[in-house]
Amino acid sequence: MALISVDEANEYLTECILCNQRLSDPIYAMSAFEEPWGYSDAAMHWDCFASWELRQEFANLYFQEQVDWFNGNSYWKILKRTEDICVAYGKAAKQVEVILRQSGSSFRVSKEKWDKWLENEWMANPNHEIERAALKQSLSLLKTVKI
Ligand SMILES: [Zn+2]
Repeated sequence: MALISVDEANEYLTECILCNQRLSDPIYAMSAFEEPWGYSDAAMHWDCFASWELRQEFANLYFQEQVDWFNGNSYWKILKRTEDICVAYGKAAKQVEVILRQSGSSFRVSKEKWDKWLENEWMANPNHEIERAALKQSLSLLKTVKI
């Protein structure tokens, strides 16, 4: 994950890679992955990410990177994969990972909370309207995934 520093009051010291202002929540942070622009492994304001001209291209690559990672990991199994989402299940951790192509961001939910999460708890998770809309759009599909 991106290295993000905070001070003793828990305020961010790290700057947003897009606007160079200090970070403030909500932030978009990702792991290092191969992309041509040099932004991976950095952090940005969610609003900066949302209005970034490279957002969709970047999100596509990050989405694919994560799908490939889960595909190649024997502790995880991909349960559903469409153009818009990927749902992976970690057998050992008993965790479900939902990755969104729209944003490249993801949510992790414990198996025992999955049904409640789908019912309405998911609404508390999105950091931005982009995530909210993407999740909402995939909700009926997500409900067909058997964990
Ligand atoms: Zn910013």
